[in-house]
Amino acid sequence: MLKFDVLIIGSGLAGMTLALHLAATRKVGLITKRDLLEGSSTYAQGGIAAVLDTEDSVEEHIRDTLIAGAGLCNEEATRFIVEHSKEAIDWLIALGVPFTRDDTHKTGYHLTREGGHSHRRIIHAADATGAAVTSTLGQKIKAHPNITVLEDFIAIDLITSRKLGLEGKRCYGVYALDKTLDQIVTIAAKHTMLASGGAGKVYLYTTNPDTATGDGIAMGWRAGCRVGNMEFIQFHPTCLYHPHTKSFLISEAVRGEGGILKLPDGTRFMPDHDPRAELAPRDVVARAIDFEMKKHGLDCVYLDISYKPANFIKEHFPNIYAHCLELGIDITQEPIPVVPAVHFTCGGLVTDLTGHTDVDALYAVGEVACTGLHGANRLASNSLLECLVIGKAAAEDILAAPDITLPPIPDWDDSQVTDNDEEVVISHNWDELRRAMWDYVGIVRTNKRLMRALSRIRLLSEEINDYYSNFHVTNDLIELRNLVQTAELIVRSALLRKESRGLHYSRDYPDMLEETQETILQPSQH
Ligand SMILES: Cc1cc2nc3c(=O)[nH]c(=O)nc-3n(C[C@H](O)[C@H](O)[C@H](O)COP(=O)(O)OP(=O)(O)OC[C@H]3O[C@@H](n4cnc5c(N)ncnc54)[C@H](O)[C@@H]3O)c2cc1C
Repeated sequence: MLKFDVLIIGSGLAGMTLALHLAATRKVGLITKRDLLEGSSTYAQGGIAAVLDTEDSVEEHIRDTLIAGAGLCNEEATRFIVEHSKEAIDWLIALGVPFTRDDTHKTGYHLTREGGHSHRRIIHAADATGAAVTSTLGQKIKAHPNITVLEDFIAIDLITSRKLGLEGKRCYGVYALDKTLDQIVTIAAKHTMLASGGAGKVYLYTTNPDTATGDGIAMGWRAGCRVGNMEFIQFHPTCLYHPHTKSFLISEAVRGEGGILKLPDGTRFMPDHDPRAELAPRDVVARAIDFEMKKHGLDCVYLDISYKPANFIKEHFPNIYAHCLELGIDITQEPIPVVPAVHFTCGGLVTDLTGHTDVDALYAVGEVACTGLHGANRLASNSLLECLVIGKAAAEDILAAPDITLPPIPDWDDSQVTDNDEEVVISHNWDELRRAMWDYVGIVRTNKRLMRALSRIRLLSEEINDYYSNFHVTNDLIELRNLVQTAELIVRSALLRKESRGLHYSRDYPDMLEETQETILQPSQH
């Protein structure tokens, strides 16, 4: 058995932030299911929103966030996070994150502006901000004597008082699979934090890395936490569609510079959907592509910029040009096959402003959580900011908490299970789930499609739970069990919303209601 003061599950920006704020006085264990740097945080391109310029203001950042959130943001959470944005960036700068400089600007840094922001307020490190941040913080973490990093450890389930037959509702750590040794390890901790990211892999197409399988959301739910706003799934309109690549974004700047969306026969379709055509907002473009794909039974549509001079394309989009060329697509000569793809999970485990969940000593920070900042639609570049601000607040809460003695914790009992003889069941169910979510719980929803998805999910869930009880757990089985659980939470939340708001669009209820209400699922409804 391993023991820590604080156990952190996940090594993205949320987990790293917490670890570094605690390590001076606490023994921290940081488990992560792949490498230290693998997670959405490392792939973030654009940057981090923060009020740094004196011409900008906290009030305006809050207002932009509330507008994007379509009436569902928690104003208190939004204010708290935005008010602490400068402090969070100062901390990263002090740690040595190499943000892009601009000596002509009074802040000394180059700030960009993104859709929905009324000011230039996105601090960035060229077009690879996430990688610059996680590699800088990652070095500090590896060098810290109080932080034990366990790579290739996947958390399976939280150890709660209920599991131990104790009074109350408290978390005491986690059972995790050490993938290298193929052994289940008991990890006991006085405080546990879920920093396991989002759930993009629930869908067939996503910009998220393979780690985004909703593990923390499912584990927290099973442990008795409430889950909020799970129906709000943000799609990016144009992800490259190619069998040999995944998660590659075709930046919105390609449309900004004149890229035209076409059907396979070359017909332009955006003007039929919106007068702004290709320059319509993200959600409108994603919905139009989805409509055309479903109407014509297509696997993808095409984004064509090839009519522009080759030099212009290479100069403006060097990475996209190079990446597509490697796959045999010369974007100066031919259109790019694209599909919309899931980008961000707005909902998650309900927490307060210290990241605390409904279970004592259990915290959730980052994309796994729902503080209310994102409401019904996330404002670009607010998510990394949330990891930083709530991560620090969680650390302060943990540092102020009274010490406890850990109770005896039994080891994982797998004496009743055998080796799985048919891996194909897992891969088949994995594909079936992601396809069903894509087809029935995508950008445009109807009651009928949602009900169809729910009945399939419940069948899959039965089969997977049966499998889980009888066979040794593997990485894929753990993830599949969590994916199915998360999918069910998304569908149930979507069924509860009888309107269209933000990222949730229902053909049965196309209008937005006057009354605003979060969708909160209670664990007692299991
Ligand atoms: C392509 C892309 C571009 C983006 N660009 C931006 C941007 O410019 N600005 C912005 O603000 N946001 C951006 N986002 C969103 C942002 O990156 C994420 O919301 C944020 O990084 C989430 O951080 P996190 O720490 O919560 O999770 P992650 O960074 O995803 O980290 C999750 C960690 O948990 C681990 N983990 C998961 N399950 C388990 C388990 N069962 N056991 C052990 N470990 C586990 C993973 O391996 C990983 O280490 C982007 C996202 C993507 C995908």
